[in-house]
This record gives sequence, structure tokens and C-alpha cells, in this order.
Amino acid sequence: MRIGLMGGTFNPPHMGHINAARSAKNELLLDKLIFIPTGKPPHKEMAERSATTAQRLEMAQLAAKSIDADVSDIEIRREGKSFTVYTLRELRKEYRDDELWLIMGTDMFLSLETWFCFEEIFSLACIAAVPRENDDKEKLLAYSEQLEQKYGAKTRVLETEALTVSSTELRPGGGRKEIQKFLPPDVYDYIVRKNLYGISGCDKI
Ligand code: ATP
Ligand code: MG
Repeated sequence: MRIGLMGGTFNPPHMGHINAARSAKNELLLDKLIFIPTGKPPHKEMAERSATTAQRLEMAQLAAKSIDADVSDIEIRREGKSFTVYTLRELRKEYRDDELWLIMGTDMFLSLETWFCFEEIFSLACIAAVPRENDDKEKLLAYSEQLEQKYGAKTRVLETEALTVSSTELRPGGGRKEIQKFLPPDVYDYIVRKNLYGISGCDKI
């Protein structure tokens, strides 16, 4: 099997994540997709106005449902920092003979050489890089080449058009109409129902 793994804070999950996962599924012919919400992210503190870990997990489940993906709580269950290499070591035990693809956007891809045990990561999984802006592609291709030459990493830059949006932009809430178009409908309904990010069912649209 060819399995795509999409890690993220998912605070909240948005159409950029969905576009990245869907593109990976189509371009790499994935048999299975798994969203993996982080517990305590190694590279950043949780932002102000964040959803709780349980809420991020629930939102990831709602987003995943919209593209027939699974969700793993492997990182949320782990005590302490959730490093990707630990997750891959664990998943390798379960998926011994399968091809694992880590799916990530430009920001994460270009920082790979700073990740904990990154060379081991390259031995455990292939990497799919998704542009977050359309003019990212040249940078992604150049870096992908570099990783292959230096470490023998197996990487692939996806062809998809970028869908530029971030959770950081969505968290301040803003106009409901403004954020709604960047969210899977079930995630949007959940945010309204739980009054997350300052959005409530009583607000005017
Ligand atoms: P934040 O602004 O809180 O950092 P984010 O939008 O970057 O949120 P994350 O949960 O941090 O979302 O990202 C999870 C993964 O999804 C990362 O690999 C990130 O690069 C990727 N990603 C996020 N948004 C997009 C997007 N619009 N297009 C492609 N990949 C994306
Ligand atoms: Mg991010």
C-alpha cells in the first residue's frame, strides 16, 4: 500500500490542508490517507485563542471525513514533544512493507534539515512537497534536488495549484463569510457551535 501522512496542528484544519491531501492522493495514487494532529508541536508554542487538543482532534476528524481520510491520535497520545521521527518509527512497525509518504507544505519542506533526526526520517518515508504559493515551485524543486543529492532522500514536488490560506489567518475569526470559504463545511459548523476563535452562532453574517 502507498500511504500518505499529513501532520499538522489543525488549529483549525482548512481547505489548504484538504487541497494538499487531495492532490497527494491523486498525484501519488495513494491507497490511504492519514491525518495526524500534533500533541505539543516541537517547533512552536500554541497560539493564543487556540482550540484545545481534543477540539483540534475532532476538527481533524471532520475535515478528514470530507476526503475519506483516517485520523490517528498517535501524537496526541504521546507524552512530551511529538517529533515526526518517533511517529514514523511507530507507524513503520504497523506498516512494515508499505510506502509511507509525508505530505507537507513549503514552510515545513524547506526546514527539513533542521528537524530532529531528519536523515532517519528520509530512510523511513518519502516526502511530498505542496506549494503554499504558486511561485514556491522553483524553490521546492531546487531543494528537493538538493535533498536527493545530499541524503538520497526520495521527494516529489506536487503539481497542484497552491491554495493560499493558513490557520493563523483564520484564527482571528473576522467576518464569518470570510473564513467560511476556507473551511470544510463540517469544520465551520463545529467552530460556530463551539464558539471557537471568537465566532459564535449569534454573530451576524
Ligand atoms: P498555522 O498558521 O497555525 O501554522 P497552518 O495553516 O500552517 O497553521 P499547520 O497545521 O501548521 O497549518 O500545517 C500542517 C501542514 O499543512 C504543514 O505541512 C503545512 O505546511 C501544510 N499546509 C498548511 N496550509 C497549507 C496550504 N495552504 N497549502 C499547502 N500546505 C499547507
Ligand atoms: Mg503552520
